[in-house]
Amino acid sequence: MHANMTEYLRINLDTEMWECRNCNNEIVSARDNYKRGLLVHDRPPHEIHQPLLDAEKYEYTFCPDPEYMAILEFYCPHCGTMIEVEYTVPGHAPVHDMEPDIDDLKKKVAAWGDVPERPEIPDIEIPRHVHQH
Ligand SMILES: [Zn+2]
Repeated sequence: MHANMTEYLRINLDTEMWECRNCNNEIVSARDNYKRGLLVHDRPPHEIHQPLLDAEKYEYTFCPDPEYMAILEFYCPHCGTMIEVEYTVPGHAPVHDMEPDIDDLKKKVAAWGDVPERPEIPDIEIPRHVHQH
């Protein structure tokens, strides 16, 4: 049994392990923070949010101050897929943002049936409204 948790993370309820949905490899125990099993890149904020103003003329350039903000990128150690990005305070431990009740999840997935990796989407015609002015 599996439970898809995010675009790139699922829990294998039989082994109780987080798994990468891109490469199907195990990451870490599902009872632990999945981020402990990922590679992390403490990304310099200016690489993402480049200054919009001349730093020689202005004190504030819309580029985050690395003394006040950090960007942590988390990657699958097996295939390199970016799984999560966390904006945080420098030096702060990664947030434990998903702490599912594994035992309850097992009961629910057993009742619902295993989630297909690629669920069938019904072919429903969507009415379009075209306005001609
Ligand atoms: Zn992977």
